[in-house]
Amino acid sequence: MADFLLRNARIVELGPGPGWAGPADVVVEQGVVRTIGHELERPLGIEEYDAEGRWLIPGLWDSHVHLAQWTAVGERLDLAGTESPEHVLARVRDHLADHPGPLVGYGHRLGTWSSEPTVAALDAVAPDIPVVLIAGDAHHGWLNSRALALLGLPPRAGVVAENEWYDAYTRIDAVLAPDLSPAAYRRTLDRAAALGITGIVDLERGQTAADWAPRDPPLRVRVATYADGLDVVVEAGLRGGDVLPGSADLVTMGPLKIIGDGSLNTRTAWCCEDYSDGSGAGAPNQTAAELAGLLDRAHAHQLEVATHAIGDLALRQVLAAYDLTGAQGSIEHAQLVTHRDVRTMARLGLRGSVQPAHLLDDRDVTEQIWAGRAGRCFAFRWMVEAGVRLALGSDAPVSPLDPWLAVAAAVHRSADERPPWHPEQALTAREALAASVDGQGSVHAGMPADLVLLDADPLASHADSAEAGAALRSMPVALTTVAGETAYSVL
Ligand SMILES: [Zn+2]
Repeated sequence: MADFLLRNARIVELGPGPGWAGPADVVVEQGVVRTIGHELERPLGIEEYDAEGRWLIPGLWDSHVHLAQWTAVGERLDLAGTESPEHVLARVRDHLADHPGPLVGYGHRLGTWSSEPTVAALDAVAPDIPVVLIAGDAHHGWLNSRALALLGLPPRAGVVAENEWYDAYTRIDAVLAPDLSPAAYRRTLDRAAALGITGIVDLERGQTAADWAPRDPPLRVRVATYADGLDVVVEAGLRGGDVLPGSADLVTMGPLKIIGDGSLNTRTAWCCEDYSDGSGAGAPNQTAAELAGLLDRAHAHQLEVATHAIGDLALRQVLAAYDLTGAQGSIEHAQLVTHRDVRTMARLGLRGSVQPAHLLDDRDVTEQIWAGRAGRCFAFRWMVEAGVRLALGSDAPVSPLDPWLAVAAAVHRSADERPPWHPEQALTAREALAASVDGQGSVHAGMPADLVLLDADPLASHADSAEAGAALRSMPVALTTVAGETAYSVL
C-alpha cells in the first residue's frame, strides 16, 4: 500500500490550511501525500480505497516512551476479571501456545472464587516453563513448581503469600527475564499502531544502534541517548534525525535525555517552595555548570535535548541552561510552572513534552504535598496561550502507551466522577490532537503518508468535557499507515 488513492476522507482541521468542504481524495505516492482534492483522477497502476466518509488525521506520536519497560509490561498476561482457577488456567494454556517462554501473569483476584488455586493444577498446564501469576491485590503469587524452584521457594500445595511473597517478588525480574526479543517489540508496536500511533520518542536508557538493528518496527522511532552514551553517538557522527546504522529508515537518532530533578511522589522534584509535608524542597540532579556542559555538547553535535524538569526550580535552572547554550528540544513533564517560565519556554522555542494522564494519577497527592500550587500544575492552557508547542506523551509504562487516554485527559481533567481538576488549564480536542501529530497540523500535500483514519469525528461537539473525554477515550481507529505502508487496518 505504498502508493494508493484514498477516496472520500474527511480531512480533520487541526491547523491552518485550505480546509476541505466535505470528503476529499488523497493521493499517496512513494510514502508521501502528493495531492488532495475533489474527484481526483486515479494515477495509473495505483490502488484505490474508499474511506466512506471517515475522518483523516496525521499519524499520532507519543513523545515520551520507555519502550523496553513498556514491552516488558505488555508481555505480562492480563488476568483481571478471571472468575475461577480453571478460567486462569485456560488463559495460561492459550498464552503459552503462542509465547512459549517464562510467563508472568497479573490481576487475578481470589475473592469471589469458589475453589483454591493449586500448584498441581498449574504444573499440569505448564510442567517445564516457569509461571508466576501475581494477584491483583499483590498479596500473593500463584506459582508452578518450576518457578518455585527458580525463586528458591520450598514446594507447597497452594499460593505464596504475604512476607514470603514480598521477598520473592523482588527476584522475579532477575529470574524470569522479560521477553525483549525483536518479536516482543514488534507486538508492542503493533498494538500502538492499532491505536493510531505512527511514531514514538523512545527515552529508554542504555540503548545503542546495535540494539535497534535486529528490530523491525512498523512505525517511526526516535531513539534517545543519555549522557553516558553521548561519546558513542558523537564518535559515530550521528546527528538528530539520522537513520541509525544498520536499522530500517524508520529508526532515527533522537535527543540527548537529561533527568534534571526527581519526581513528585518521591518528593525529589526540585521546587521553589518546600513540600507541604516538611520533606524539604527536592534537589537537582546536576549543577548548573554540568547541565550547561551537556546541553552545549549536544547542541554542538546537532542533537536535540529532552530535559526532565518536574519542579518549578528545576525548570528555571534548565531553562537558564538552554538560554545560555542555544540548545533546542523539549522540556519533559514541566509539571509545576509559573507564567514567567512558560513565556521563557516559548521564547526559547522549546516544546512542552507533557503527559496528561499523569494529572489523573497525581491529582490527590498534589493537593496534599504541593498544597496551593495545583493551579500551576499541568498548565497546558498557559502553554498554548504563550505559544509553546505541546507534544503529548504517556511516559509508558508510567501510564499506558495510549494517545487517546492522553488526549482525553487533556480535554477532561478527571478520571472519576469528580469535576475536572483545574478545568481552566484544559485543552480543546483540536488542541490536544494538534499536540499529538508531531507538528503536522491537518493532513496536507507534501507530508509523509503517516495517516490515521477514524470511524468517528474526533472534534464532534459534546454536552460537556466528560462526554468529550469519554468519546475520545474510545475513539475507533480504522486504518494506520506509516510512509504509506499499512501498519494497521480493519478496512
Ligand atoms: Zn520517562
